[in-house]
Amino acid sequence: MSDKYRSDNEGLAEKLGRLKYVTDADNPHLATKDVETCRQCQDKPCIPRCPAETYRWNHEEQSLEIAFENCVECGVCKIVCPYGNIEWRYPRGGYGVRYKYG
Ligand code: SF4
Ligand code: SF4
Repeated sequence: MSDKYRSDNEGLAEKLGRLKYVTDADNPHLATKDVETCRQCQDKPCIPRCPAETYRWNHEEQSLEIAFENCVECGVCKIVCPYGNIEWRYPRGGYGVRYKYG
C-alpha cells in the first residue's frame, strides 16, 4: 500500500467517533445468507474493507460476527463479497447512522 493511501486513513477512527447512530436492535439491516459460504471464503474481504470494523471472524465458532450498529451504510461489503452472501438494506427510517457534516 502506498503512503498516499495510508495518510488518507489517518484520523479515520476519530472521524467515525463524531458520527451518531440510532441502533434498531430488533431489526438488523445486515446479515449473511449462508454461514458455510463464509467458512469457505478464503480472503473474507468484507472484514478488511469495511471502514467501520463491522465484521469480525470468530475462530471458535467459525462464523462471521456482524456488529451492524457500527455500519456507516457505505455499501462496500456488498460489493466486495465474491459470493453475494451479504443481505444488505438501509435501516428503517429514523435508524442508522447520522452524518453531521455533509
Ligand atoms: S466476503 Fe462474503 S462470503 Fe466472504 S466472509 Fe464476507 S460475507 Fe462471507
Ligand atoms: S455498508 Fe460499509 S460500513 Fe456498513 S458493514 Fe458494509 S462496508 Fe461496513
